[in-house]
Amino acid sequence: MVESLKFLDAEIAALKEQNIFRPLRVLETPQQPVSVIDGKRVINLSSNNYLGLATHPKLIAAAKKAIDDFGVGTAAVRTIIGTQTIHQELEKKIARFKGTEASLVLQSGFTTNVGVVQSVLTSEEDLLVSDELNHASIIDGGRLSKAERFIYPHKDMKALAEILEKNSKGTRRRMIVTDGVFSMDGDVAPLPEIVEVAARYDAIVMVDDAHASGVMGPNGRGTPSHFGLTDKIPIQIGTLSKAIASIGGYVASTQQMRDYLIHKARPFLFSSSHPPSVTATCLAALEVLETDAPRIQRLWDNTKYFKSELKKLGFNTGNSETPITPIMIGDTQKALKMEALLFEEGVFALAITYPTVARGKERLRTIVSSEHTQENLKFALDKFREVGKTLGVI
Ligand code: PMP
Repeated sequence: MVESLKFLDAEIAALKEQNIFRPLRVLETPQQPVSVIDGKRVINLSSNNYLGLATHPKLIAAAKKAIDDFGVGTAAVRTIIGTQTIHQELEKKIARFKGTEASLVLQSGFTTNVGVVQSVLTSEEDLLVSDELNHASIIDGGRLSKAERFIYPHKDMKALAEILEKNSKGTRRRMIVTDGVFSMDGDVAPLPEIVEVAARYDAIVMVDDAHASGVMGPNGRGTPSHFGLTDKIPIQIGTLSKAIASIGGYVASTQQMRDYLIHKARPFLFSSSHPPSVTATCLAALEVLETDAPRIQRLWDNTKYFKSELKKLGFNTGNSETPITPIMIGDTQKALKMEALLFEEGVFALAITYPTVARGKERLRTIVSSEHTQENLKFALDKFREVGKTLGVI
């Protein structure tokens, strides 16, 4: 044992005591609707591979070709010599896709949120107003910014307006940040109302569309496009790690914002760029989104079917409007037991417990993809019924 690391004994014991210590599950296949996890073949309802692109032949071919053409890595940060022609090509393509002047790609969605919030709000005279269910990376970005921070109750527009009314005076910049689709609940941010409040207080709106890109709006362009508000939302964040099925994040905004972030966003400045295979994969994914609308339709067909069948069975699926469908349980032990029993029966749906969600809001979180077959979903629903009855959830 390393003496100086002895503090970990107590830390690990505390995690175990709270029953939140978890070994990593190991996927033995590609990420796909039916996967082998820890040696067991299961219907996989817990990945963000919304459109099945993790194994799409066009993406795989593009990644292989990029290795031949550009090598396996850039070995440099973007601002030194880590920007290849395909990095530029991807940023132009993302901007076109999102309907903005320009875009900038960072290492992940997480680093994008951190980098943007931190770079835009740089003074104690700035104000950050954030939905209580926003992603951890928005919270961390706020912590690293100099801004005064306020959190409004989930989607509570009255509270949002009140915060701005009370605290805007004398401020330099105000920014309202929201997830487009909330990652644990699958509900959608009220962007029309947010934009209206923002206009009243001259606030910048930033939307994190990690779970909406590839999913909502025409060809999966995201929530601003879904609501017809692209012009009113100057900062759109997206991830390349979910529906796009690779890795990375981006901000789609103005050319000036791109230029500014290139000089200010610390993860962009101080961490190396994506390997060419990642960038080429993302380019190919965007081509699929632009040309394969039926794939997105299949995702929504599966979503509607799965959600309505769960409701018919008597499960509480919260306020979800998207492929993220929570099954509310409200008890940690029961949620964990349900996950375990389902897994034994061949279905993987992750239990989400405190601190990821508030106490009393424990749930199983399911995400269907466009590539789950009716048979896959029927099988899963049968198991949900059996296990739900055994545990008295329905
Ligand atoms: N924002 C939201 C809403 C997310 O759910 C996630 C992923 N958990 C991220 C940002 C981070 O994205 P990435 O995995 O690309 O870092």
